[in-house]
Amino acid sequence: MNSENKKHIAILGSTGSIGTQTLEVIAANLHLFKVEVLTAHSNAELLASQAIQFDVNAVVITDESKYAWLKEKLAHTDIKVFAGEQALSEVVTFEKIQLVLTALVGYAGLKPTIAAIKAKKNIALANKETLVVAGDLITKLAEEYDVSILPVDSEHSAIFQCLAGEWHNKIEKIYLTASGGPFRGMDRLALANKTKAQALKHPNWTMGAKITIDSASLMNKGLEVIEAKWLFNLQADQIDVIVHPQSIVHSIVQFNDGSMKAQMGLPDMKLPIQYALTYPMRTITDFPRFDFLNYPTLSFEKADTETFQNLALAFQAMKQGGNMPCILNAANEVVVEAFLNDQIGFLEMSDAITDCMQKITFIDTPNYDDYVATDTESRIFTRNWILNK
Ligand code: NDP
Ligand code: MG
Repeated sequence: MNSENKKHIAILGSTGSIGTQTLEVIAANLHLFKVEVLTAHSNAELLASQAIQFDVNAVVITDESKYAWLKEKLAHTDIKVFAGEQALSEVVTFEKIQLVLTALVGYAGLKPTIAAIKAKKNIALANKETLVVAGDLITKLAEEYDVSILPVDSEHSAIFQCLAGEWHNKIEKIYLTASGGPFRGMDRLALANKTKAQALKHPNWTMGAKITIDSASLMNKGLEVIEAKWLFNLQADQIDVIVHPQSIVHSIVQFNDGSMKAQMGLPDMKLPIQYALTYPMRTITDFPRFDFLNYPTLSFEKADTETFQNLALAFQAMKQGGNMPCILNAANEVVVEAFLNDQIGFLEMSDAITDCMQKITFIDTPNYDDYVATDTESRIFTRNWILNK
């Protein structure tokens, strides 16, 4: 395949866990893909070496203090170098790009995702926070600009794979599986003194720090519930969570005749990443294969929302709708950062989010500016909560 027939890709957040795994998938399939743009926040060194390896057209470093170093490092190449948050929304519109994979973390993904959709680029979405914050806006824009949003998150990729060939059939319900994280089975007393080192040890997945804390608190599953609502156009009562500690069944669709389809495999993000990149095709991989005899028991249990209140808060935010998921997300981003900085205890994260959801003004049908204002207000409220606790 010559360069013109390859899929041209931009990766936002190429230096992170999803970003580096995406580049591994691409390196194994160079006959299919051409990387146009890579971006990072502050890891200029890794960004520079990735840019050289994949001979990209342009890079963006959002931390402007790293620009001079990066520019100098790439001076001997013809790679264009940009800096700052605004540049993300500009590079995604480059003409050659066909697919933008959003692997940056948090609310920072919202603006560039909107810019990419408006430039008619398909989105491979890892950055679930974008759909949590503004799912109605994003899905409406995607429809208006005739753009596909392909899930990268393993549970949503599982649902998406189960739905192939079933688009005309009604979904009765979906079950998102959750590993339960490192604190599964513990009570609130045990959770009160958990440290960040303990929370960062996920049993089945190696991921960035923010999503690993979210997995320990079950907020990740809560965000995924809201993500699923928008991706698959579901009502709140059509989404359920089931704890499955082995992380082999990645999620399940139940159709209106009661039939259930599940997608299974070893936990490896490279598979859902590759599916989003090659969709609707599958391509051969040398990833390790699942062996039933290594897993004689696959088990399932109820999620404990009394202990892991973040999951209940996310369901509540989804049911309330409007700007409530945006409030939940902003408060959560602030408390996770504070927990990682040892400023707040594990259970206090839910307390702060609960208060924030009660105090910030509710808006039933928010527009883009309302989301921006809600995010700012919620962050200020939560930072003050932490200072005054
Ligand atoms: P990481 O923290 O590993 O990587 C985040 C990436 O985004 C890095 O490239 C980082 O740059 C960049 N970045 C961080 N902050 C900003 C910012 N403010 N502006 C621009 N770029 C920024 O995260 P993950 O790869 O784990 O997660 C990325 C997204 O994918 C998240 O939304 C997460 O929920 C989702 N996801 C992740 C999974 C996983 O297995 N990791 C699974 C499913 C979903 P730098 O390196 O320079 O800091
Ligand atoms: Mg997931």
